[in-house]
Amino acid sequence: MFLCQKFGVDVIELSPISAVIVYLTLTLSTLLTIWVYYHYHARQRKIVVSEKKLIVCEYCLFVYLDRIEKKVTQCPQCQCYNEQ
Ligand SMILES: [Zn+2]
Repeated sequence: MFLCQKFGVDVIELSPISAVIVYLTLTLSTLLTIWVYYHYHARQRKIVVSEKKLIVCEYCLFVYLDRIEKKVTQCPQCQCYNEQ
């Protein structure tokens, strides 16, 4: 390191190998940071599966969702009762 007399600032001398190491370190750390950010950000947006079942009405063939534990469900379209 020496003082540049023209601008009055310190200048760091880099050998070609050091320059490559600095370049690779900066590039890889940037890519790692981006990967970590998207990896954990994607986990938070995971789809939550609800405990509902897809039911087809026996009478009007209307498809609707209802709770799994119900034995008899009522069709929201024709109001008929369907057994599972
Ligand atoms: Zn129906």
